[in-house]
Amino acid sequence: MDVTIIAETTVDGLHPVTSQLVGAAIAIGGTPTVLCPGGIGTTAAASISGVSKVIGVKGDCFNTFDSGAWAAALNPLVSDGVIIAASAPSGREVAAQIAAMRGIPIIQDATGLEAGITVTRGIYSGKAIETSTVTAPCAITLRANAFDAAGEGGSAEVSTVNQSADVAVAVREAIAKASERLDVAEANIIISGGRGMGDPANFSHLNEIADMIGAAVGASRAAVDTWDEIPHGMQVGQTGKTVTPSLYIAVGISGAIQHLAGMRTSKYIVAINKDPDAPIFGVADYGIVATWEAALPALKEELGKL
Ligand SMILES: Cc1cc2nc3c(=O)[nH]c(=O)nc-3n(C[C@H](O)[C@H](O)[C@H](O)COP(=O)(O)OP(=O)(O)OC[C@H]3O[C@@H](n4cnc5c(N)ncnc54)[C@H](O)[C@@H]3O)c2cc1C
Repeated sequence: MDVTIIAETTVDGLHPVTSQLVGAAIAIGGTPTVLCPGGIGTTAAASISGVSKVIGVKGDCFNTFDSGAWAAALNPLVSDGVIIAASAPSGREVAAQIAAMRGIPIIQDATGLEAGITVTRGIYSGKAIETSTVTAPCAITLRANAFDAAGEGGSAEVSTVNQSADVAVAVREAIAKASERLDVAEANIIISGGRGMGDPANFSHLNEIADMIGAAVGASRAAVDTWDEIPHGMQVGQTGKTVTPSLYIAVGISGAIQHLAGMRTSKYIVAINKDPDAPIFGVADYGIVATWEAALPALKEELGKL
């Protein structure tokens, strides 16, 4: 089965989630061709094990982001099989535009994929799991960290194609991220703070622990709405980012349904909250009923010993 993967790229090259897209494609018996928008990351894509072909797609339209223009440029190179992209802002939009151009179905934000093609994903803010079966041609976007990445060691053939498309709406400049830290959407470990942190300055304790364990720092909506110092890009939840890290540590977060919608599929959840009845304990694998003032120094000390 032909699978066309739309690589997720950054200014620095290929985003690591692309290896997860390849891993998922291979797991359903696919033969993946990776399209690299703007020709970015072709060498890295070719080295992913199991990739059969890499096409760097170059053109002026890739100088800025316009999902319609990117889709128009990539569409002629997409096969009639399955299109797979990352469930990231650009991947979701481009895959949806290509699906609309081809009149094929799209399933967004899948967390499971099996041969057949059976797709699972969370619905109703993650309260229910939907399982659907689709047939190719179709498009599917996959949530980061929900799939095993394919390994290294590939040596796929690389070609470059020049495509042009009219740019209708372009993002000329991305507003600099308020935080230079690792983004929650990319992280394998996240430590998030809520209104229970009491003051934005107290997020420095979360930053310190994040630096010790290579984590990203997230926040609840109450925290980002209350404090200007906590940027909205850190928000996890229904109206923030949906994350699936291996470990999610929630500190001073009550566990409102809208927050759970963005993090309940994390592999392990640790909650620190002074209220034993806080709903976050309902989804936590490990719960610590304590103030963060008591728990975080102890956690720091233990981590320091490792
Ligand atoms: C349409 C809609 C969309 C929404 N989208 C989101 C979303 O995307 N993400 C999101 O997070 N929320 C979202 N919300 C808001 C959500 O309903 C909650 O209001 C919010 O998640 C609460 O944030 P919080 O847990 O930090 O604050 P609170 O509810 O105020 O909870 C603070 C917690 O900290 C604990 N605490 C206090 N002091 C300490 C201490 N010293 N040590 C340890 N624990 C302490 C308290 O016991 C309490 O459980 C949305 C709401 C709506 C209506």
